[in-house]
Order: sequence, then structure tokens, then C-alpha cells
Amino acid sequence: MRAEILCVGSELLLGQIIDTNAAYIATQLAGIGVDLHRKQTAGDNLERITDCIQGALSRADVLVITGGLGPTTDDLTREAIAAALGVELQYQEDLAANLRAFFAKRNYPISDTTLRQAYLPAGCVELHNPVGTAPGVQFEGQFRGVGDKWIFAVPGVPREMKAMLDGGIVPILTQKMGGERQIIVSRVLRSFGIGESGLADQVEDILTTATNPTVAPLIFGNTEVHLRLTAKARNEAQAKELLDEMEARLRERVGQYIFGSDAQTLPSVTLDLLQKRGATLGVAESLTGGVLQGFVSETAGSSATFRGGVVAYNADLKRDILGVAAQTIEENGVVSEAVAREMALGAQRLTGATFALATTGEAGPTTQSGAPVGTVWLALAHENGVVTEKREFFGDRDAIRRRAALAALDSLRRFLLSP
Ligand code: ATP
Repeated sequence: MRAEILCVGSELLLGQIIDTNAAYIATQLAGIGVDLHRKQTAGDNLERITDCIQGALSRADVLVITGGLGPTTDDLTREAIAAALGVELQYQEDLAANLRAFFAKRNYPISDTTLRQAYLPAGCVELHNPVGTAPGVQFEGQFRGVGDKWIFAVPGVPREMKAMLDGGIVPILTQKMGGERQIIVSRVLRSFGIGESGLADQVEDILTTATNPTVAPLIFGNTEVHLRLTAKARNEAQAKELLDEMEARLRERVGQYIFGSDAQTLPSVTLDLLQKRGATLGVAESLTGGVLQGFVSETAGSSATFRGGVVAYNADLKRDILGVAAQTIEENGVVSEAVAREMALGAQRLTGATFALATTGEAGPTTQSGAPVGTVWLALAHENGVVTEKREFFGDRDAIRRRAALAALDSLRRFLLSP
């Protein structure tokens, strides 16, 4: 069953409100296995709303419309449905009676404007609104000679839209789909240390040929690339099986970049590995200025493994607090392998942690040390020594600092996973 969404409201096109209704509808439709093929947004203009409805009905089986069902003259959804179907609006005495009763109960006078809501396009029925006055509209029938087309129109007010979707549309569609009913389940594989096109190139054939699950790459937060797997199945167990199989295929190709899935983050995965080993972490930061410790400490349960650290921005502090030798700084400059190494050893000594990470580099926009902007030295002090890594990051100051902090964590994660 193919569906489309139409959101009505000029305020959506003016950017005054964000369309959260479509996201909710999309999630609920996916939950019952309805394929959502397209979403449109139209302003409060009869011709354009009508055009969107006709376009959607010529392609899809189901059209869900939100907004434009209120009582005022700029609420045009009812008129547009009638125009699209080529029928008249008809006064419904029972809807008018409900509206009158609603207003009488609250001692409000009812106006002719409110009674606009008592009109429905011919051939449509009311879709009950349990939490507001605006009745929804439901249509089942033919469009341009093709039958089995469904329209559901609900108000734009999110609370009303949700009540009518959950209590009306979803049960109706679920019943209609009967044995055809499927669920759509997604899983996200999260990678770090490779760009979107680099990752896509390595799994190109899977991206273009896989149909169930489908696989799509997307950039997340300027630092990660995700692979979103979306499976369609009869039940959760079958969906899990399909997703597990595809995950294994993808991991075989690009597993070295994948650090986790769904809600796992690079810090949470790294801290879990530390905890399993009964180990602890200390940190010494220069260019990342606390970003690394922020990432670590925002992870729930981090106190079990994170002992603390130092932001030693200034060369004097690197010397006085972390014990980096003045000669090391003088001979190599602050952005150097030797300084990173001594910072990590200093943090390990100072915090008493099993492992310590250190970052030093140039975040830009101009260089202070002479090293090119984006140059970063990372060091990891472990039980038997120190490993260092030089990285060249691109992007603005914020991106370089965040990437450097995550790269430091990733170096620890890889170390903990290495045999
Ligand atoms: P009403 O009976 O209140 O007039 P309506 O069907 O006419 O309902 P609109 O007037 O289009 O709905 O929207 C009412 C309010 O609902 C908007 O001011 C906005 O706050 C919210 N809204 C409308 N569409 C959306 C949307 N797509 N996503 C999130 N909120 C929305």
C-alpha cells in the first residue's frame, strides 16, 4: 500500500512553524508497513491544494492531509478535496448538530463561520475528532476511474492530528491491509573515520541493489557517517533476521569503521570497553579545550571509568601541571608528537588512570604554532607505553576540535579491541 502526505498551511511555507506532523504520520505509517512515497506542502491556496491532492491520488493508494480544516475562509482543505474529486460540498445536519451541542455545552454562541465545518465533500464521511471541534474527512472510492483510493484529512493541531491518526486512520488501514500487513524496522550502523563517499564507494553494489533491507548512507553531526538499514517484514523477529544478515554483510566490508549501532555513541562504546576491562581513563587536552572530556562526561555512567583530566591550553601549564619538559616544547613546538606523548604520560600520572588520552594541534582559523590548520597529534598512554598518531582534519574550528576529540576516543577504542 502506497501513501503520500499533504501538509496544508502557508505558515509552513513561510518557515514560521516546523512540520512535525509529517514526521509523526510517517513513523506511524512505517509502523504498520505502509510505504510512504512522497510528502507535499501547500499554502492556503485552493488551486494548489487541489493540484497536490490530484497528483497524490493519481500515484498513491492513500493520502493523509493535515491542516486547513478549521472554520475560517483560509481553511480550504474541504473545498480542495471536493474540487479534486469533482463533487460539491454538502451540508451534514448531524455534524451541525454536534457542533451546536459542543458550543451550547460551553455556553458559546455558534457562528456561521463555525458551521462551515458541517460541510463535507459529497461521497465523504466524517472522521471523528475526539479532542477538538473540527471534524476530519474520510473518503474511500474512485479517482479518475481507479478505485480503492483513500483520503484522510485531519486538523493541523498536533494533538488532534495524533488522536485521529492513532484512534482512526491507523486502525482503519491496519484492518484494510489484513494479511498484507507488514512492519518497517530500521537500524543505523554508525561509522567514524571515513567520509560519506569513501564509505559509499566500498559498499556501492549493496547500496544500489539491496531492496530488503534497503541501505542508505547519511552524514550525521558533521563527524559520523551512518548506514541506515530499513527492513520490511511480517513481524519483529523476521525484521531482525533480515537486518542481522545485512549488518553482517556490511561489517565484512567496512567493519573497521563501524563503532556501533542505533543509540550507541563513540564515547559510550569506548567507555563500555574500558569498563569490561576494569580500566580507567584520564585526559590531557590542548586544542580540544575540554570537548573530549565533555563527550566522555556527558555519557551516562562515565564516572565508573573516567577519572578526570586537564585542559592545558597554555605551554606553561603543559609544563607545570602535566610535566612536559620545557626542552621538549622548545625543540618540537607545542603541536608535536613529543609534546602529545608527554602530555598523555602526565595525565596518566596525575589521574592514576590505566589509560590517558592527549590532544594537541591547530584548530584555526589561523595558525599560532606554525603547524598547518587542522594538524593534530593524538597520544594514548597505556599500560606498557605510548602510541601516537598524526591526523590532518579539515573543516572549521568547531569541526576540527570535535573531530580531534572523537578521533582520540576512537584510537582508544581501536586499541582496546586490538588483540
Ligand atoms: P484548526 O481547527 O485549529 O483551525 P486546522 O486544521 O485549520 O485546525 P491549521 O490552522 O492549519 O489547522 O493549523 C493549526 C495549528 O496547528 C497551527 O497553527 C500549527 O501550530 C499547528 N500545525 C499545523 N500544521 C502543522 C504541521 N504540519 N506540523 C506541526 N504543527 C502544525
